[in-house]
Amino acid sequence: MFECVVDKSGKEFFNPKQIEINTIASGGIKLGSGLSSVHSDVLQYAKIKELTAHLPKNESLSKITQGFLTAWKDYGNPNAIILILCKDNTPNIFDQRAVEYAIYNLDEHITVRRKTCWELIASIALSPDGKLFVDDEEVAIVYFRVLYTANDYTDEKFWDVRLKVEMSRAILCPSIGYQLAGCKKMQEVLAKPDVLERFIDDVDVVRKIRSTFAGFYELEMNSDGDNAVQMALTNPDLYVLKPQREGGGNNIYGEHIVTLLSEIGNDERRCAYILMEKICPKPLDNIFVTASGHQKVQAISELGTFGVILARGNDVIENYFADHLMRSKSHEHNDGGIDNGLSVPDSPFLF
Ligand code: ADP
Ligand code: MG
Repeated sequence: MFECVVDKSGKEFFNPKQIEINTIASGGIKLGSGLSSVHSDVLQYAKIKELTAHLPKNESLSKITQGFLTAWKDYGNPNAIILILCKDNTPNIFDQRAVEYAIYNLDEHITVRRKTCWELIASIALSPDGKLFVDDEEVAIVYFRVLYTANDYTDEKFWDVRLKVEMSRAILCPSIGYQLAGCKKMQEVLAKPDVLERFIDDVDVVRKIRSTFAGFYELEMNSDGDNAVQMALTNPDLYVLKPQREGGGNNIYGEHIVTLLSEIGNDERRCAYILMEKICPKPLDNIFVTASGHQKVQAISELGTFGVILARGNDVIENYFADHLMRSKSHEHNDGGIDNGLSVPDSPFLF
């Protein structure tokens, strides 16, 4: 999100502020790159083609697919498959299929299988040397598009499926460590003094990254936690209260923060949340085109950037930026999200 700050002379600055990091089930890979070319076509039809220079190139689909190909080759068995572990009846199938077809385009010899957890219960097996099999096919990569949030474990047996996957030598997208690194609690920890410095030596890089962090206030059972609760109760509109959940619709705003924190009281259930400063972007004119037509909207845009990392232990084999996905929502909504219909995919316009 881009926080809008006005200096003494009235000049506006748009500072990028990080909302979150998603390390599991990152989606919208096709949407971003597909929409960039739609917008560039629209500018051409509108006879303002010269403005396409302001649209940054977006090759997220091919860059991310290339990451899958590199990982699959690294696994070292040309007969091993890529497994997309997915939900039943998900609208995200369109995004996931795009990844699948793009993999085939890169290398027609790779087999990609889509399976739900229900299907895996009967078909998954682990060999004594750690190879993962599904229906007797060896698995090179497991790409998680489910099992990222507690609600996904609708059956106890899904935990057994997850355990087998985690115990295998298949390449996991992501590994359990990376999933944990994407937890909201980690953002709070990374924002603490001297923590980024443990991972990055370049002070200038540390400064730039830290400038994108919003304020985080820990809710542990100590005096800092007590103070944070008081701050949130006094000025709830300045904060967002977040549980350790993914997938949208979980964050708590405004008076609901007061209700929840008052109900919890001085209880360690509060440690399950993080308290984050609420970012205040400036709404900008936009036109949303949806199935029900088009409408002018005062919109807030959120820029997501993709990255690919492939590592064996501490040995990093690939690590690169893989373009972006912009989402815009009406300024009236607190939460955004394409799946829940609140946001629309969009393109950045550089000026
Ligand atoms: P989830 O992981 O469930 O998607 P997020 O932390 O990404 O949850 O938040 C969902 C949405 O809520 C974001 O896309 C953004 O629109 C809004 N949001 C989250 N944190 C903030 C914040 N600190 N300030 C303003 N809006 C926020
Ligand atoms: Mg998330």
